Amino acid sequence: MNNLVGETMDVRNPRTGELDFQINVTSQTQIDTNVTALRGNQVDWHNVGPAGRAAALLHLSDALQKEFASLAEALAIDTGRQTFAHFEVAKSIDLVHQWSKSVCSLFDSLANAGHSAQVPSVSFQHELVPYPVVAVISPWNVPLLLALLDAVAALAAGCAVILKPSELTPRFIQPLQRALDQVPEIAAVLNIVTGGPETGHAMIEAVDAVCFTGSVPTGQKVASHAAQCFIPAFLELGGKDPAIIMPDADLVLATRAIIRSAIGMTGQTCQSLERIYCHADIVDKFIAELLLQLDPLTLTCSATGSGDIAPLIFMKQADTIQQQVDDAISKGAKCLRGGHAVHRGGIWYPPTVLISVDHTMTIMRKETFGPILPVMAFSSVEEAITLANDSQYGLSAAVFSQNIKTAETLARQLNVGAVSINDASLTGVVNDVEKNSFRASGMGGSRMGSAGMTRFLRKRAILTQQAEPVSIALFADTQNPI
Ligand code: NAD
Repeated sequence: MNNLVGETMDVRNPRTGELDFQINVTSQTQIDTNVTALRGNQVDWHNVGPAGRAAALLHLSDALQKEFASLAEALAIDTGRQTFAHFEVAKSIDLVHQWSKSVCSLFDSLANAGHSAQVPSVSFQHELVPYPVVAVISPWNVPLLLALLDAVAALAAGCAVILKPSELTPRFIQPLQRALDQVPEIAAVLNIVTGGPETGHAMIEAVDAVCFTGSVPTGQKVASHAAQCFIPAFLELGGKDPAIIMPDADLVLATRAIIRSAIGMTGQTCQSLERIYCHADIVDKFIAELLLQLDPLTLTCSATGSGDIAPLIFMKQADTIQQQVDDAISKGAKCLRGGHAVHRGGIWYPPTVLISVDHTMTIMRKETFGPILPVMAFSSVEEAITLANDSQYGLSAAVFSQNIKTAETLARQLNVGAVSINDASLTGVVNDVEKNSFRASGMGGSRMGSAGMTRFLRKRAILTQQAEPVSIALFADTQNPI
């Protein structure tokens, strides 16, 4: 990759479509310099121990709170979303606060020492050794929260972090940096760089582990580059989450949850429901309820900016969505609502309902990342499971049934890392329950729950012989001379 010096990148405003912001591209030389400084500072950060890090994280959550308004304002421009921008800041501050509260007890629970069961004369202690410098590379759909989710857990573990948010949504970096500057002990171990793929590539060469959140194709590149650099890669990638609606589901509540998951944030989340499988006995009722509940939802492109559905953040995403919708219609799908982008400077895509879909259509196979609801009927549980599992992805899924036992039995047969029952995409709001991402949706330990931190700790075993050293006779092959 190029050694980029002095380059800038233009950034588009998703509401107006205008290029109204610029970032500098951090050069490879600068990345190397920053990582060298982080390596030096990480030693003290590790040595200060969990209590010291907890105190610093608490200061950081206070500093973020002071920047709440400016962070929310920047995110609102980055993403074109008003309400969610505020939620995102609040959730990010809560994340920092939660780690500051839990880091000490978590380290206490990890303390381990004793005697080997196999060789009782050997005592051992485990020392927890963080990866010195972790690279965090994050996407544009939830810019602040997904930048901090891995970064703060790594900091809590005692790592230093070099963070590169997406080049498409970088406006929040300035207020974030102002918050960091108020907490010098954290500013010393959390460095933010800016740029695109080349910057991300250069970071991987300089660090000891990489956390990547983004698309499957980029994740494959990151994993193969990390393998060349011989560092672990923790990958959180795309999805094509299915919902299964059983005949006894509460259709009003199921529809509400499905709409929130599929349409909320304009469908631009990894765990958006993108495939709806509904039992044939109730599919007509479900579609009627879906259209009814979608009816009042409006796009936010009016002069007042009020409404429910924000613009697409990445304008090229409109082409992907349209291609998938057109492909489905050309293969026999019927569009009951939406189906065409609305251009008002930025691009809005209305909630779109497709029926008569099948698995020959890309809309049922590739991640869409837009507010599309393709609905397919099934006749038996076995068929629903087969359809749901017929995917390269394995992020999460949802099951709707008033019989929780039936729903749980079904959930256990889905080849995904998390299943929400009688709700959707719960991993987007519940961060304290561990889960993995299956198949092409990810790799590495859970980013949720306590594993979110412990995956950054390696164990160094200190083994002490309390008796005579192990005899050489054990290794001398005296019975079988050569
Ligand atoms: P992307 O893969 O295009 O980019 C993600 C980040 O990687 C950006 O910061 C980008 O600059 C950087 N990058 C690009 N090429 C790189 C390279 N060769 N080496 C290193 N870094 C590189 O993803 P995106 O379009 O920003 O985000 C959308 C995708 O993210 C969707 O597929 C979505 O499902 C996924 N996502 C997954 C999760 C999850 O938790 N599983 C969460 C959010 C988003």
